[in-house]
Amino acid sequence: MKKDSLLGKSRKEIQSNTTAEMALEYLREGNERFVNNLKSHRDLLEQVNETSDGQFPFAVTLSCIDSRTSAELIFDQGLGDIFSIRIAGTVINQDILGCMEFACKLAGSKLIVVLGHTKCGAIKGACDNVHLGNLSTLLNKIQPSVYYEKTVAENRNAGNPEFVEKVSRIQVKRSVENIIEQSIILREMIENKEIGLIGAVYDIDTGQVEFLEETFMFGEIKHFYLDVEGQEKSANR
Ligand SMILES: [Zn+2]
Repeated sequence: MKKDSLLGKSRKEIQSNTTAEMALEYLREGNERFVNNLKSHRDLLEQVNETSDGQFPFAVTLSCIDSRTSAELIFDQGLGDIFSIRIAGTVINQDILGCMEFACKLAGSKLIVVLGHTKCGAIKGACDNVHLGNLSTLLNKIQPSVYYEKTVAENRNAGNPEFVEKVSRIQVKRSVENIIEQSIILREMIENKEIGLIGAVYDIDTGQVEFLEETFMFGEIKHFYLDVEGQEKSANR
């Protein structure tokens, strides 16, 4: 069902009739419009009025602060459509989990998307082990993704685009996994098929979002076993 065909229904009705799979489809369609330079017809000022009494966003996105990765633009969404959380490198912390729990448990959103991106400065910073004031604390949260990348043997630094992109994908998977490991509320909602969770990567060059289908959780909890070396060590113990 196209979201447009639901026009005429209240935003609350639309949200409550949306499933995680439908929410994912809305975002796929929105990104397709974005890439093709098409925009869904929407009057933002009218949406100000429509949403003034309450909000019923169908999805939550966690994207980077990078000025090129605004989730509403990338997914061609208007006011009141998505909760947009942004932090460099899509790292997870308790405040962000709190935002997601609010969005899903209290405000009724049906899908969480962790949206990493290519050429990410935060990932590059972690790859080069940059230290700068409070930024160091943030980049430390990305360091395990650098460590878990084991396929690139040489030039393991920000100057190697292949290495940076591989670390980015690991970082998205780690953030997805951190959500189910650190939030019992969200994990239970996924197990009960009340919400879905998926990772994705936005391509800065093409405007395209690639959903990492293998990370989609809806009903079933998945683990990505990123720490292969660590597992081998403990297996040999
Ligand atoms: Zn970034």
